Amino acid sequence: MKKEFAVIGLGRFGSSICRALVEKGMEVLAIDIDEDRVNAFSNIASHAVMADTTDEKTLKELGIRNFDHVIVAIGDNIQASILTSLILKELGVKHITVKAQNDYHEKVLSKIGADRVIHPERDMGKRIAHQIVSNNVLDALELSDKHSVIEVIANKRMDGNTLVELDVRAKYGCNIIGMKRGEEIIVSPKADFQIREGDLLIVIGANNDIERFERQLL
Ligand code: ATP
Ligand code: ATP
Ligand code: CA
Repeated sequence: MKKEFAVIGLGRFGSSICRALVEKGMEVLAIDIDEDRVNAFSNIASHAVMADTTDEKTLKELGIRNFDHVIVAIGDNIQASILTSLILKELGVKHITVKAQNDYHEKVLSKIGADRVIHPERDMGKRIAHQIVSNNVLDALELSDKHSVIEVIANKRMDGNTLVELDVRAKYGCNIIGMKRGEEIIVSPKADFQIREGDLLIVIGANNDIERFERQLL
């Protein structure tokens, strides 16, 4: 059965989520207090309605509790974001994801019981900083405070070496879980796999191990 989503707040972030869900073939209700923003989505979302989501009666009338997942993307109006999330929780919405503006906002949302609190500006800032500091790091994904997956480009120093020769796992405590060479993808490369300069390596490990790997090999 098709999953049903509701996106509240059609700023840049909410719009982007809404479009992406529609592209994935999902049923999406787009909600905003601003008429122009709602109109802009009337042809994109499955349904678009103008509503103030801090009003419990309105949310009930929209049948919000029947949605599988509600995303709250109200940005600057933190009070509206908190109140909306609280009502959604009280109405028994199964899964609530909320965008936080700052750390205090995040804390309150977690207390209320939001299933997932996201912080796109902060997280993207961290990722970009990582890429800027380390030339060969294309992307970094935090799995927890202590663990990450990074994408790195193999340099001249690694060129022609096998994984055993570099002894990545034993020396740095990290695992190379996959690589990309041109269009070719190699999942779980074996110990005798020979790296070439320019290969994209996907590395998983504890942050301090990954840092060591980056410092000594890149
Ligand atoms: P982004 O940071 O994602 O670019 P933005 O900064 O444009 O978004 P805001 O304008 O602060 O974000 O909020 C996003 C949307 O939330 C706006 O379109 C706004 O009209 C809507 N919004 C604010 N309060 C409410 C509310 N009480 N009910 C419904 N929608 C609301
Ligand atoms: P280990 O001694 O770490 O348990 P192993 O006995 O399974 O490894 P091999 O799989 O032959 O031995 O690998 C030898 C060494 O090559 C490993 O110790 C490790 O340092 C390195 N290595 C092999 N495959 C990878 C990989 N995918 N990612 C990182 N290092 C690897
Ligand atoms: Ca904003």
